[in-house]
Amino acid sequence: MDTAFRMRTPLVVANWKMHGRQALLGAYAAGVTSGFMRISGVECAVCPPATYLAAFAACLREHGDDGLALGLGAQDCSPEGADGAYTGEVGAAMLADVGCGWVIVGHSERRARQHEDDALVARKFEAALDAGLKPILCVGETQAQREAGKAEEVVRGQLLAVMGRTGPERMAQAAVAYEPIWAIGSGQPATPQSAQEMHDMMRRCIAGRSEAAAASVRLLYGGSVKPDNARDFFAQPDIDGALIGGASLDPASFCAIAAAAAVA
Ligand code: PEP
Repeated sequence: MDTAFRMRTPLVVANWKMHGRQALLGAYAAGVTSGFMRISGVECAVCPPATYLAAFAACLREHGDDGLALGLGAQDCSPEGADGAYTGEVGAAMLADVGCGWVIVGHSERRARQHEDDALVARKFEAALDAGLKPILCVGETQAQREAGKAEEVVRGQLLAVMGRTGPERMAQAAVAYEPIWAIGSGQPATPQSAQEMHDMMRRCIAGRSEAAAASVRLLYGGSVKPDNARDFFAQPDIDGALIGGASLDPASFCAIAAAAAVA
């Protein structure tokens, strides 16, 4: 279902996961700011570990990105909307305070390792929106769920859990990243066609509650996207960008993927 193909600005997001040190920040900021000078019509964001967010924002400014045109994002946030006695947590308002515009919620690595369930992810999604951040909601099935023919059911359930809490209209302010778990970090991406099928299903699912939200929400694909396969994903009518893990650690690769989104 393609309601507004190319009316949605492509969005390409780097997820560093638990990688990087202070020494990487300046070189990375230099690489991406010079790379993005040559790319237009694509929105990008970089999500370093929380410890480095403020320092990375400062590096971007040092390299001429005064208004943080290259978006800054966090990899997670607390579900708590107000400050309080939550040791170890980082609130969405704190992320906004250091310059973040985006936050990833519900990444499969957190769902699996930190046992985050749909209800918790929905609270994080809402806390992010309430703090003025745009959440990037990750959804996706395991290999076993796909083999059992349950991939769509799983992804639909993850999506509805969030829409049920926040209402469909707020989905328009967010992005949703379809990341089949078996494709993350495996070097075995989904085929662009099967990713498109899932994106089509997700857009229909949102349209069932709000046509306007479905038309404007950006649906990203994630899972072993590289400079040499990105273009095939971006050519699909319902794939509006990508969430990139491994390939985003190299600014040149990240810029190459963003450039592929610009010409798709
Ligand atoms: C991810 O972790 O969100 C991801 C897509 O990783 P990779 O690109 O390494 O598969």
